[in-house]
Amino acid sequence: MAERLYLDWNASAPTLAAARDAAIAALLAGGNASSVHAEGRASRGIVETARRALGARFAVSHEGVTFTSGGTEANAMALRPGVARDGGPPVERLVTAATEHPAVLAGGGFAPADVTILPVDALGRVAPEALAAALADPRPALVSLMAANNETGVVTNPALFELARGAGAVTHTDAVQAFGRVEDATLTADLVTVSGHKLGAPPGVGALIRRGVGVPALIKGGGQERGARGGTENVPAIAGLAAALAGPAADPHAWEETRTARDNFETALLEKFPKVTIFGRAAPRLPNTSLIALGAPAELALIGLDLAGVAVSSGAACSSGKVSVSHVLVAMGVPDALARCAIRVSAGPMGAARAFERFLVALDEVIVPMTR
Ligand code: PLP
Repeated sequence: MAERLYLDWNASAPTLAAARDAAIAALLAGGNASSVHAEGRASRGIVETARRALGARFAVSHEGVTFTSGGTEANAMALRPGVARDGGPPVERLVTAATEHPAVLAGGGFAPADVTILPVDALGRVAPEALAAALADPRPALVSLMAANNETGVVTNPALFELARGAGAVTHTDAVQAFGRVEDATLTADLVTVSGHKLGAPPGVGALIRRGVGVPALIKGGGQERGARGGTENVPAIAGLAAALAGPAADPHAWEETRTARDNFETALLEKFPKVTIFGRAAPRLPNTSLIALGAPAELALIGLDLAGVAVSSGAACSSGKVSVSHVLVAMGVPDALARCAIRVSAGPMGAARAFERFLVALDEVIVPMTR
């Protein structure tokens, strides 16, 4: 049987061997990181080493790093009334965009009346004028805009963060997809969400990075994470996250070949299938993502490709299992029938050229017969 082709990195990166080994070593170390005995201190050492490594990547003190159970929790923690820049007023309202991950669109702790959802254009971009209009309301605002979209890969314009800061807003970015893949100015937001399993760490770990901003505890408990997040730390997953930070998926330079391979794939795709739609192609995008529609319903395409040994996803993998139209494509004004054909292809930092070549062959064999 041919080797499987994994092109669903935006859902989860394959676990990196170094991250798996670090997680196993931490499991074997075994102590509770809050215990004072040697086993506990060993676990504490793993957590604090990881905290410093992550802080260094964002040029913040280790005190600005709070470990969470993943991107979803970090987003929920960041999006709360009461978040405040040191010495500044607590935020009272949230401004975000229609293409955000559901974890952000849920609004965190804000009442629906205090949430402004900005529209996007056909490429999934927020207009600076729309953000400026939302910032005209004098109540202190938190502006949350994802660094890169998980479905289209479209990268948010850093000028929007400048605009928000200029108006005195606290800024948050969900960098779950962008961190490690692009050197993006949006990653300097006041609050940044990171998730481990997009980098090759085990799932179930993430972090909220804070730059001079106080965030009330979302989960109160035993005072862990300096009171910022109750609950015994997931030491093996945190160890895996630290190891993954040194891996290729967390190194923006490692993705440049992937960008070339993805661009070549799209050029070849357009030559072969002139009717293909490539969503967000004219906007700056992540190096690894291509969201395409060839005319076959996505759920049939996914099953056919899976049987042929290829793993891709339709729209957001976080919502896979339910056959509904992507809210991202709806926000971009894509007609329903076309949106239902969208397949997301997302490659890794190594071997992408060969992977995209194989994918093109699979499209010919599996999808073309479906569209006749
Ligand atoms: N934000 C974005 C943009 C994502 O793509 C995802 C997961 O796919 C999340 C948040 C949720 O992260 P996690 O799975 O770590 O909770």
